[in-house]
Amino acid sequence: MKIVFISLYNKVAYECRIMSTCLKKEGHEVHIIFIKDSEIYNESSITDETHPLTRMSDEVSEKEIDQMLSLLRHIKPDIVGISVRSPFFEMTKDMVKRIKDCGLDPLIVLGGVHPTCCPEDCIKVADAICIGDGEEAILELAIRMQKKKSLKGIHNIWIREGNKVYKSEIGRLTRLAGLGIPDYARDNKHYISTCPPEDDSTLTYNLMVTRGCVFSCSYCYNSVIRKMLKKPRYEMKPVREVIEELAAAKQRYPNLKMVVFDDDIFPFKKEWVDRFCAQYKEQINLPFFCYMHPSTISEEYVSRLHDAGLYFAKMGIQHGSDRIRKEYYNRNESKERILESARILNKYVYTSYDLITGTPVETESDLMEQLELMLEIPRPFILGVYTMGYCQNYDLTNRFLEEGLIREDQFESSNMHSMKNMFKINYPSERAKKIYELLSLTPDFRVSKQRIREILHDKDKFDKFSIAEIQPKGIFIVEYNKNNSINLQSTNTMMFQIYNYDKREYRNMILTLKIGNSAEWSAEIPCFYGDYSKNVNVVIDCPFAVFTIVSRNGFEVPVKTRQKIDGYAPKTGKHLIRLLLKDDKGNIIGSYKRKAYLRTSKRAKESFANILMQRVRGVLDVC
Ligand code: SF4
Repeated sequence: MKIVFISLYNKVAYECRIMSTCLKKEGHEVHIIFIKDSEIYNESSITDETHPLTRMSDEVSEKEIDQMLSLLRHIKPDIVGISVRSPFFEMTKDMVKRIKDCGLDPLIVLGGVHPTCCPEDCIKVADAICIGDGEEAILELAIRMQKKKSLKGIHNIWIREGNKVYKSEIGRLTRLAGLGIPDYARDNKHYISTCPPEDDSTLTYNLMVTRGCVFSCSYCYNSVIRKMLKKPRYEMKPVREVIEELAAAKQRYPNLKMVVFDDDIFPFKKEWVDRFCAQYKEQINLPFFCYMHPSTISEEYVSRLHDAGLYFAKMGIQHGSDRIRKEYYNRNESKERILESARILNKYVYTSYDLITGTPVETESDLMEQLELMLEIPRPFILGVYTMGYCQNYDLTNRFLEEGLIREDQFESSNMHSMKNMFKINYPSERAKKIYELLSLTPDFRVSKQRIREILHDKDKFDKFSIAEIQPKGIFIVEYNKNNSINLQSTNTMMFQIYNYDKREYRNMILTLKIGNSAEWSAEIPCFYGDYSKNVNVVIDCPFAVFTIVSRNGFEVPVKTRQKIDGYAPKTGKHLIRLLLKDDKGNIIGSYKRKAYLRTSKRAKESFANILMQRVRGVLDVC
């Protein structure tokens, strides 16, 4: 059988890749078509319209559909499986119609989160749907098609013949043990509006070692699955197989620098963690990232993982108000627990926190409580504030719908609502807007917490403050680690977050900034005791080219700045900016090139060299 999976905005696509592995083992020919990439970012920060990132809210174009159809005509598949997330349902409906209209007649199967949560809607547009786990179901479907047997009655598969739908129970859970390694082979992978991965330049490897979650948040897919199965679903892959997968990845990608565990919650059972830490450190020994839950964090747990290589963790707080968390989100961890977990994380690793806000039940007092909590969280941290998206049949969606607090046209599946508005918050009042603005300052090391508290607790100051006055403007946030490229936002002042991956070797890094063809400055970024978790922020005030380095632990960082061309200050206007990050042996480990608008003040032109000498300094982090 020939099977084609279509993955929208998702190049990692574990489920498609693992199903591909299962099908290939049985001798089937499997292709995966990746359409568009999955970069999610704050659109408001992108000022340059020619920015190469695909916007998640950009719909698939006519040209891209044509490319997909010509690939399908060439492959002539028996089965086309489309992995559907709720925001892409409308787009998927259109794609199914176009495949049917183009003269091909494969069995079209929709699978993934949306068909599992909304099977009745999805079966109307496809020949079949897969609810829940797909590995065994798709295999049986392929075998039965090959043997020309009836497709009815396969666990997890619904079949439609005309208007008649043959349903099956969800119940067949895939056992993760023995599933094999996701299919990362180069053959039969097709890329539309996204680039094929280059083995040599791949720096990060993403994987999942669990399925399901022990918690049941009301806005999450896992709570729907729990209801369908009438029990929680949580399974961990055996440690031995995790290590085998990573060892294979290390061999495939010679320059691999980091491992990303994309599990909803990283495993926390002691026996598994102990075995993992020992084997990971010995055989893989790469820095890694993972997601954590406040309730699973303890000092022993984090310190063990840190010793094995954990350098960066993301913890979902989701809301700072006890009332919202407990009464609406079905999250029972206390504020004290959240703070204790944050303190532990801060002691060992770099941390990012997520908040999901903007629901109709949120009051000003909830927002104040949330802000107070975030002010208690130790810096440094990254904060992601997202608006709630409403997926059909999730507990929170049903509740808000029944209470008349949301409408059906706000569903993610109806209009890509969440993709378009992921970072946009509808402020219920001017006062609420100001609280959100203060919230956005909580991780900003350039604004002291004391200052935020003063504004918050002084009515006069609160009424008068304007974020434009207290937030330093034009900051670049740059990370070089993600895709082997430096990504920066905004103009004139740049703030970099530099992660030093080298655990064992004590290496400094050289950051070079070039403006146009004639101006070039370099700063040496010291490696802190060879410990990758001690990342630094580098602020470059541009075009002064003043490098300021701030360490996470408040070290004074000696900066050696070399200026290639004395006294040069570029004129106001568009300039080609190039950033190069090199190790101490001169190897490039990150680079960035972009045209950006720089403003050059009169003062800069007059006393550029003078200012440069005065302002090169190390400063303390403001915690
Ligand atoms: S903890 Fe995370 S993954 Fe688990 S149910 Fe809650 S939101 Fe979903």
